[in-house]
Amino acid sequence: MSKQDFYQLLNVSKTASKDEIKKAYRKNAMKYHPDRNPNDKVAEDKFRSMTEAYEILSDEQKRAAYDQYGHAAFDQNAGMGRGGGFGGFHQGGGDFNANSIFEEMLRGFGGFGGGQSGFNSAPEKLRGSDIRYDLQITLEQAFEGLSEKIQFVTNDVCSSCKGSGGSKDSKTINCQTCKGHGAVHFQQGIFTMERTCQTCDGLGKTISDPCKPCHGQGRTRQQKNLEVKIPAGVDNGTRIRMTGEGEAGLRGGGKGDLYVYITVKPHKFFKRAEKDLYCSVPISMVTAAMGGSIDLPAIDSKAVALTIPEGTQSGTQLRLRHKGMSAIKSAYRGDLIVEIKVETPVHLNQKQKDLLTQFKDLEKGNSNSPQSSGFFTKVKNFFDDIKGAS
Ligand SMILES: [Zn+2]
Ligand SMILES: [Zn+2]
Repeated sequence: MSKQDFYQLLNVSKTASKDEIKKAYRKNAMKYHPDRNPNDKVAEDKFRSMTEAYEILSDEQKRAAYDQYGHAAFDQNAGMGRGGGFGGFHQGGGDFNANSIFEEMLRGFGGFGGGQSGFNSAPEKLRGSDIRYDLQITLEQAFEGLSEKIQFVTNDVCSSCKGSGGSKDSKTINCQTCKGHGAVHFQQGIFTMERTCQTCDGLGKTISDPCKPCHGQGRTRQQKNLEVKIPAGVDNGTRIRMTGEGEAGLRGGGKGDLYVYITVKPHKFFKRAEKDLYCSVPISMVTAAMGGSIDLPAIDSKAVALTIPEGTQSGTQLRLRHKGMSAIKSAYRGDLIVEIKVETPVHLNQKQKDLLTQFKDLEKGNSNSPQSSGFFTKVKNFFDDIKGAS
């Protein structure tokens, strides 16, 4: 079964903001909503796919998982990593469960939401959160890849109780707040709602003698030191997932993941477009006219020779194959595209002026400067036409 890309479905870019995604979804959902397209199977399918795409892309964690693994991240049968598929990403539901009227309306339509967001006691609720770590690197580092030591403070496994949350003789007892149900009921308007019990986090059980250092949580605030391996070719927005390096779960629950978000600093000389690099190089009028060769520093800090053909014009782009950026999981580098800027000489001395005057006298009009000669002929014709017409 091949599924359409979620970004394509909603017609947004891979870097679209949450707001852009929401807007795109609303627009499409309004268009394809079954109430507006009764008995239209195609519209209904489209509406469902878009809703699914929105559910994933509107949630930061789910989106990160999707970006890394594609549809496989949410396919329970795909057997990714931990038992039970990609468990952690079903928590919360992010913006999607927001009580906006529109989304309530969608939920009323059925097909999603209701079934999935039903009350779940137990392990998923105890998993630690995923963590985002922002890392800024240079373009040279992005080219070569690097190993970076990072530090951050998070909830990590309590060393005293090894995460159980209980002291040595502690027993597990029924939670007093929810009487062991894991959930409590409360009234909202005419509805009776169910909510996870906050005392036991939905477990229905609490610990008789909680561990002192972590107050029974099984985790404490600690500084974590990690080494992140960043592959060559990363770009702005690349996310590197480090499984199990996020927050520790409550009372020994599963660990969250760490996502390292890469930002590449702007470079003084090169601009990047995926695998290709662009730069602008000034050359003298003489080199442009007579041709020559110049040495450029490439991103790998090796010099690369650029041949300037005779008669090169300002704005000409010269391409150096495989002298551009590296790319993730690819042996091939992109190209380096050099835009030539011909510099007009300034501060001429008398001898230079004399030589240029001689040059002017020798100039062969059309054949030396085809563009400018042609240009003035065109302008002349233009004015002649106006005169002729009036
Ligand atoms: Zn402890
Ligand atoms: Zn409880």
